[in-house]
Amino acid sequence: MPRTREPGARRADFLGRVRRGRDRPGNAERPRHATGEGARLILAQARERSLLRRHPWVFSGAIDRVEGDPAAGDTVTVVSASGDPLARAAYSPSSQIRARVWSFDPGATIDAGFIEAAVVRAVRSRDSLVATGLDGVRLIHSESDGLPGVVADRYGDTAVLQCSSTGAERWREAIADALVAHAGCVRVYERSDLETRALEGLAERVGVVRGDEPPARIVIREGAARYPVDVRTGQKTGFFLDQRDNRARVAAMARGADVLDVFAYTGGFTIAALSGGARSVTAIDSSRSALALARETAELNAVAAEAVEWIEEDAFAALRRLRDAGRRFDLIVLDPPKFAPTAKHAERAARAYKDVNLGALRLLRPGGTLHTFSCSGGIDAMLFQSIVAGAAVDAGVDARVLATLTAGADHAVALAFPEGAYLKGLVLRRG
Ligand code: SAH
Repeated sequence: MPRTREPGARRADFLGRVRRGRDRPGNAERPRHATGEGARLILAQARERSLLRRHPWVFSGAIDRVEGDPAAGDTVTVVSASGDPLARAAYSPSSQIRARVWSFDPGATIDAGFIEAAVVRAVRSRDSLVATGLDGVRLIHSESDGLPGVVADRYGDTAVLQCSSTGAERWREAIADALVAHAGCVRVYERSDLETRALEGLAERVGVVRGDEPPARIVIREGAARYPVDVRTGQKTGFFLDQRDNRARVAAMARGADVLDVFAYTGGFTIAALSGGARSVTAIDSSRSALALARETAELNAVAAEAVEWIEEDAFAALRRLRDAGRRFDLIVLDPPKFAPTAKHAERAARAYKDVNLGALRLLRPGGTLHTFSCSGGIDAMLFQSIVAGAAVDAGVDARVLATLTAGADHAVALAFPEGAYLKGLVLRRG
């Protein structure tokens, strides 16, 4: 994956304007007065409805014309066909999502102060969670926190920042400053190595934004478990914080169980199951580096290493092999990667979800539980349940839904933005 490292290379001036070097990806910076600040996106007839319902995306098909000459990341005013100003939004000329709303107040000034205030709101809304002793927490959940394209996860005193939109890119210095000033972070590390940045015309970027290089491992606590996180080369921002509550649920159900953890990554569910008294855990992942860290995690937690069987293999093949070997489990976790990033990929992804769920259900003992997840934006909860139901029919298994699961409270979803609820889970009990 191409990455560029630019340790400490950028600084924002007082107004949050970003001084960029020549070699930097993103948009050439232009002086404020010459940007498209006055630019307007005029919507086509009757295309203002979703904005009036406070949905923050303006799709290219909803736009009649652009007035002015906004550059990528500039703030534009979104105006209805009848001339009513509706919102201030970040312009993204190459994306299907042509603009993402910063504010539904069309008079709002979008500057470093605005961004700082939004970061402060996001951080403060996690205070009660942090007060429970959590040191791994999502601080900014993008659109749901009024900061489209911005994700920030905190591990101890390190913030890991991901910018996935032109607007986020424009204001990343102000965001970094606010994280240092208001979230108690001594360093901000960027993990904007997201393929989706290409859709916004942005190159991938990884490196220090504030402070020094993060340590190779940052250890966070979760319940009785401790997890070493590699923020520099781990997947996403280093750890799957979104599964925190669901790991606790698995821990609570694991006593005496033979557990199968499919798509185990660094062993989050594996360690949770062991700390909950599982008899054995079989953990599968295709990533060697993830499993290496999983082994470290097991050592750190002083769990019975002999109770874990780590399998580095493609999960689809491993599930077939375990079935052929006559293996059976009491509790299975199925937490695959994003098979369908957008609705466009839903059909092929549906087959993959069905396959793994079928494979897992066939390994489940009667009375056992399957915790099955989808983190695909392109697959909603209804579709996910119908895919899993189809897998159960094919497996000849009768199952009931014990619970539906989501990401934790630090991933709270804006009411008007259902796309934010990307993580869906079902706990099934086999009849
Ligand atoms: N359950 C984990 C997160 C899982 S993320 C936790 O709570 O921390 C998805 C994982 O699936 C990643 O670790 C990735 O390496 C793995 N993966 C992706 N494709 C795979 C495949 N075909 N077979 C096995 N593992 C795969």
